[in-house]
Amino acid sequence: MFTEYLRAVEPSQTLLLNEQSRLLESSGREIFKFGFGQSPFPPLPAAVQALKDAASHKAYSPVQGLPQLREKVAHFHRDAEGIDTHPDRVLIAPGSKSLLFTVMAAYTTADVFIPAPAWVSYMPQAKMLGHAAVKVPTTYAKRWRVTPEALEAALRSRPNPKAPGILILNHPGNPEGLSYTPSQLEALASICRAHKLLVLSDEIYGLLNHDGKHTPLAPFYPEGTITTGGLSKWCGAGGWRLGIALLPEALDGAFKEVLLGIASETYSCAPAPVQEAACHAYHWNAQVQDYLAHQRKLLKHIGNWSAQQLQQSGVHVCPPEGGFYLFLDFAPVAEAMQAAGITTSQALCSKLLQDTGVALLPGHVFGMEPEQLSARLAYVEFDGEVALKRSRELGLDHAYGAAFHDEVFGKTIRGIDALCEWVAAFTRASANAA
Ligand code: PLP
Repeated sequence: MFTEYLRAVEPSQTLLLNEQSRLLESSGREIFKFGFGQSPFPPLPAAVQALKDAASHKAYSPVQGLPQLREKVAHFHRDAEGIDTHPDRVLIAPGSKSLLFTVMAAYTTADVFIPAPAWVSYMPQAKMLGHAAVKVPTTYAKRWRVTPEALEAALRSRPNPKAPGILILNHPGNPEGLSYTPSQLEALASICRAHKLLVLSDEIYGLLNHDGKHTPLAPFYPEGTITTGGLSKWCGAGGWRLGIALLPEALDGAFKEVLLGIASETYSCAPAPVQEAACHAYHWNAQVQDYLAHQRKLLKHIGNWSAQQLQQSGVHVCPPEGGFYLFLDFAPVAEAMQAAGITTSQALCSKLLQDTGVALLPGHVFGMEPEQLSARLAYVEFDGEVALKRSRELGLDHAYGAAFHDEVFGKTIRGIDALCEWVAAFTRASANAA
């Protein structure tokens, strides 16, 4: 009914690909699921127990979140990352996705600056709210970083210079797994300050920086940064739906009231039992630090190994610094691929899936041009529970040996090998043509 009045919003491409892979798998094919970016690790056991204990707690919580959780979150981010915040400026919601949307919904009109590539949901959210979305292009040569020059250029071309400007930054990033150095953050912060931009700093992978050395943006731009995070990635609990936002002191008052108003008229609050469980996760104690240290060690190992293999096969890819993604740029073999009829990132991913069973997500869903041959690989195709157990048996001070690598990451290894072989054929074709 009234279909001509429907908004132009499609289901998230990441979920669709997961469905396609599931279908192929049910027909008996071995599928290497590098498409869907879900943590492979189980949630923190103490949080699981707390969730069970709280299952009967049925009351709505305050819209902003349980006071005891807000306090824990504020302390946690201060102790773990050095972000200076206060429980009054912590917002809890059913997922950080809802918080990103709520912040953008606070403005009737805004120019939203979104890097390309960037996580799939920023652009649809900005557009759904009627904002002007401005892409800030990045390149492999500059490690997919937003440079001061690219940001300045985007600001010069902004459609509504008088409207509020919102920059979305995400590090360590989805889809490229890279971080910003302190001096890069400082340079970007000074442009944001000069242009009074509100920055949505999506740091949901911050605690999964592979060296445990995440540098948050907020200390460089405290007055204009909203940091978002949550349990989905570092605590292996995407389906629990718990996100957090840390607001700047400068936005106390009217802005926060609007956010709480939107929250109260849409999601009301995060699930109360999940908030109680989160109180046990947001605790910077030895148990949590050990849980994170093993995840990072495992992710660093398999992320670097995969990047190295892919580089050797002829793909452009940066070794990852955090999270669990690699962004692959097939530019070196683009001509050979085009000669074989592969002219878009979508075509590339579907041919790859068909030929090898390797599922990646096409670069265009992350804001790249459709004909730029790029794709995201999530290196999460292993059993996180087994991996954590084996890693703990070995201990943090011992390197993973060949037997560990083969046992824990067997399926990832087979998938990366299949992908590399597939690419190498195009690399050979390029060399022959030259
Ligand atoms: N931001 C990024 C970069 C993500 O990759 C994701 C999840 O995939 C989210 C935000 C959403 O997280 P949440 O589960 O907290 O809504």
